[in-house]
Amino acid sequence: MKCIGCQKQPHELSEYVQQATVHEMSPVEYVRMDEGTYDIKTDMFCCTGCYVQLGLPLNTQLIGMYQHAAEAH
Ligand SMILES: [Zn+2]
Repeated sequence: MKCIGCQKQPHELSEYVQQATVHEMSPVEYVRMDEGTYDIKTDMFCCTGCYVQLGLPLNTQLIGMYQHAAEAH
């Protein structure tokens, strides 16, 4: 699981680490449960910083980016 923008994993992003601590779960579990940009098929998400940088894309646009990135690998 990684961010489409910065390629970081949830445990490397303080926003998820903090929220995971509050909810007593792992950062990965938190993203899977509560991150609206998470896509289970490609196992990618978009952290808040990257989401803003991308210009607040719609979820359908994000999924397209995830699929494109997944195919490139
Ligand atoms: Zn990011």
